[in-house]
Amino acid sequence: MAMIREVSVSELACSPRLNFLIRELELLYEQMDRKYEAAAAHYGFCCTGCAQNCCLTRFYHHTFLEYIFLRKGFDLLSETVQADVRQVAVQYAESLRQAQNRSQQVPFRMMCPLNQQGLCLLYAFRPMICRLHGIPHELAPPGRPKVVFGQGCPAFDSTCGHHPYHRFDRTPFYSRMSVLESELKELLGIAGKTKKTVAHMLIHDMVRINEIS
Ligand code: SF4
Repeated sequence: MAMIREVSVSELACSPRLNFLIRELELLYEQMDRKYEAAAAHYGFCCTGCAQNCCLTRFYHHTFLEYIFLRKGFDLLSETVQADVRQVAVQYAESLRQAQNRSQQVPFRMMCPLNQQGLCLLYAFRPMICRLHGIPHELAPPGRPKVVFGQGCPAFDSTCGHHPYHRFDRTPFYSRMSVLESELKELLGIAGKTKKTVAHMLIHDMVRINEIS
């Protein structure tokens, strides 16, 4: 008989059962970083921060594996820093909720709770989109006939936008992430999906799993 149980993300983050998948995720992130750096170097693009800081963008993250990994990093911070960041995360979540209720047409922009004085507190643990954002790219979404092309960020456009496109294909990263996520869900018995901002990943701590008895 299948029973639904809630498990703490912090507990999962230190579970030895997940070591293999965490290591695979780290390898994937290393691969992304290398490919991103090579593509950025090709253009001579170097992010030194800008007014449109991408940490102000409301990104949603869709994998439990990244959620668990981010919390693994968060749990290494001191309790004082964790409490401060959580407080900002709660404010962020409330501001987003209010903005969604107003259903304004302008995109929600607010600094990510992990950004302190322009630096990411959990740089080594940051999610995939934080690593890939900024340079022009392409993606072949599964089941769709066409490759989708994406632009660089405003800082890229203003400094390197005149260069011809240099191929940066996100597809292998998304595909590998999808495989790792499926393995995690199968291992833990997670049936649902996740869609969270970094703020929500820091505030919430429970994942629902199916337990077969
Ligand atoms: S996780 Fe780090 S890199 Fe990503 S938006 Fe937040 S502060 Fe920026």
